[in-house]
Amino acid sequence: MKWQGRERSSNIEDRRGQRSGGGLGGLGGLGGSGGGFRIPTGGGGRGSKGGISSLIGIVVVLGIIWFVTGQNPLDMMTGGNSGTIPSSSSASSRQLPAQGEDELADFVGVVVKETENLWTDVFAASGQNYPEPKVVLFTDQVNTACGMADASVGPFYCPGDSKVYIDLSFYDELHRKFGAPGDFAQAYVLAHEVGHHIQNLTGVLPEFNRRRQAMSQEQANAYSVRVELQADCYAGVWANYAGQQNLLESEDIEEALNAANQIGDDTLQKRMQGFAVPKTFNHGTSAQRKTWFQRGYSSGDPNQCDTFSGSV
Ligand SMILES: [Zn+2]
Repeated sequence: MKWQGRERSSNIEDRRGQRSGGGLGGLGGLGGSGGGFRIPTGGGGRGSKGGISSLIGIVVVLGIIWFVTGQNPLDMMTGGNSGTIPSSSSASSRQLPAQGEDELADFVGVVVKETENLWTDVFAASGQNYPEPKVVLFTDQVNTACGMADASVGPFYCPGDSKVYIDLSFYDELHRKFGAPGDFAQAYVLAHEVGHHIQNLTGVLPEFNRRRQAMSQEQANAYSVRVELQADCYAGVWANYAGQQNLLESEDIEEALNAANQIGDDTLQKRMQGFAVPKTFNHGTSAQRKTWFQRGYSSGDPNQCDTFSGSV
């Protein structure tokens, strides 16, 4: 992606290197009031540690988890109640800032700015303002309106404070652990999270949160898949916009599609446990994720991202 030298967003909150402080009981606080859409990553987060990387085996990147009040967020990720929430391998072990993270932070700033440009245009076309989300860069742990979150859950969006949260070490994991290298894979992650912000504005997320209370886990998972795929489609719409801005390099779309493939529920589950359990899917299969990203990308039209009518 040709991003160097472009304008960066003014909505980046750089909290890297900050200790988030105690008081919320760590991840036990995840059942906070806001609810959150997260990208679970399979735990770990620190490449060299890896000890807990298998704990969230089934979990998915670029996914969402609704942080229901008082509920273990892993319930949503695993489809069961058995989850132990993995803690980060160590909140104090990483040397900061990691080499290259400052450039990554610049990259994030540019991508976020380009998403702001797109969605400001889209909202303006229907006479509305686009309330831009904040994007928080953090290290290891972060306190959010959705509760205290650990880097091991991966990037996520918290509707309670309209912020995207990302520990930049995730990008190393995306490449190394999930087999999704490339800067446009990284851009896709951000654009997907911003997609959840759009869903928060359009009412999709609030409605999901309301309706899922009365659903079985399996029903909620199926609903979650539709929410996720729409965020993928919105990421594709943004990729189309990036193309119009001449930001794309030849391999970029392939990088995004590869990422979508690598983090599909079926692919992830097979890699981690050798088999897939479709009723536990809550983000979509590799094929679905690629399809919806592609749909957004080829159309450039958010109205083509209706994942709620018909089959996905
Ligand atoms: Zn998501």
